[in-house]
Amino acid sequence: MQTKILLNEDQLPKQWYNIIPDMPGEMAPVIHPGTLQPVTPDDLLPLFPMPLIEQEMSPDRWIDIPQEVLEVFKLWRPSPMFRAHQLEKALGTPAKIYYKYEGVSPAGSHKPNTAVPQAYYNKIAGTKRIASETGAGQWGSSIAMACQHFGLECTVYMVKVSYGQKPYRKSMMRLWGAEVFPSPSDKTNAGRSILANDPDNQGSLGIAISEAVEDAATHEDTRYSLGSVLNHVCMHQTIIGLEAKEQLKIVGDYPDVVIGCHGGGSNFAGLAFPFVADKANGKNVRLLAVEPASCPTLTKGVYAFDYGDTAKMAPISRMYTLGHDFMPPGIHAGGLRYHGASPLVSQLVHEGVVETKAVPQIACFDAAVLFARTESIIPAPESSHAIRGAIDEALLAKEEGKEKTILFNLSGHGHVDMAAYDAYFNNELVDYEYPEAAIKESLSHLPKVD
Ligand SMILES: *Cc1c(COP(=O)(O)O)cnc(C)c1O
Repeated sequence: MQTKILLNEDQLPKQWYNIIPDMPGEMAPVIHPGTLQPVTPDDLLPLFPMPLIEQEMSPDRWIDIPQEVLEVFKLWRPSPMFRAHQLEKALGTPAKIYYKYEGVSPAGSHKPNTAVPQAYYNKIAGTKRIASETGAGQWGSSIAMACQHFGLECTVYMVKVSYGQKPYRKSMMRLWGAEVFPSPSDKTNAGRSILANDPDNQGSLGIAISEAVEDAATHEDTRYSLGSVLNHVCMHQTIIGLEAKEQLKIVGDYPDVVIGCHGGGSNFAGLAFPFVADKANGKNVRLLAVEPASCPTLTKGVYAFDYGDTAKMAPISRMYTLGHDFMPPGIHAGGLRYHGASPLVSQLVHEGVVETKAVPQIACFDAAVLFARTESIIPAPESSHAIRGAIDEALLAKEEGKEKTILFNLSGHGHVDMAAYDAYFNNELVDYEYPEAAIKESLSHLPKVD
């Protein structure tokens, strides 16, 4: 019985899969936050280098991965796939459970899959510095590491509550050469105006995005970089699903259901999009995005145009949203606390191609602990949502006495998030359902776009 399913370095995918030409239905335009008109590539140039702007809107189904990027990927890719024999046994399920493990990257998550190409395209376009934001620090550490490879400077605005709670991610960013500011900071107008009204503001991803966008827009040599949500980010992550398909071929299997946790949508998209293409061609495969009940963007949000950030500086996209001024509670899965979602994933949900589910955090930690005690890998709190989803599917298979093949994305490990596990074992975790009234209030502030 094979446990690890491995590819050689020479089997690394040479192209990314771009889902844009295969999307069901019309794609909504991206709207300029100032003019409320569709954005042009020129509007985006203060924020992103041209090669990434082109990828954001590309009609090409396959896009070559540059050799320089492949050379960096070889430090940890292809990533392993595992058959979860030990977990299956503990569950007593007839289901086969496979997981793709992205925690083998130096930063411990899938995020370097897009950080590296983003740094590369910035380098060739002449960018000197990248400004970005980070919640729990996974993205900040990934972009810091990537900038090192291509000789770029890096500034990271880190959500203040995490800056205090997760000091080791800050250490990682410094080690990889980045400067890190707690957000809201006094470095930007966006940060200063929030601090003037609320000096103790603990920050949010939306606020940190506003600061990084402002930094990039106001410095000629600086560009902005986003670790999730955008089309080009989802495309860079498809290397996960493309590898996974090759790995499943080795064992002669194909999934009935593909599962990922959902924050901004990138790791889910990365695993699922190559299977969406199969589904469109008639394959019978379900795709399931799992999010926290405390930040229920896909399950309780609306599909509407909204700002990407709190200060209304980032472009407006049509997506599932809880409202740009939504303030998520301080759950431990810091990477899943964004008010919006990838427009591509949102459209697939809207069209009924992708299923969604919201799960409470204690049930996720139950799943993560069972996983760590059977498969031994300590999951990131974010990834525990995918594990919960996979275990629930496996238990359902047991109840129904059905064989089923489950594939999920183990998006990262939890080695710098052990405080979250301490909180779980000390019974300090609580389950929040985000109150409907608060969602309604946030949703009353959406921009009016025709
Ligand atoms: C950031 C992060 C996520 C959530 O982001 P997506 O863009 O939704 O993938 C999930 N898991 C881990 C380990 C992360 O670091």
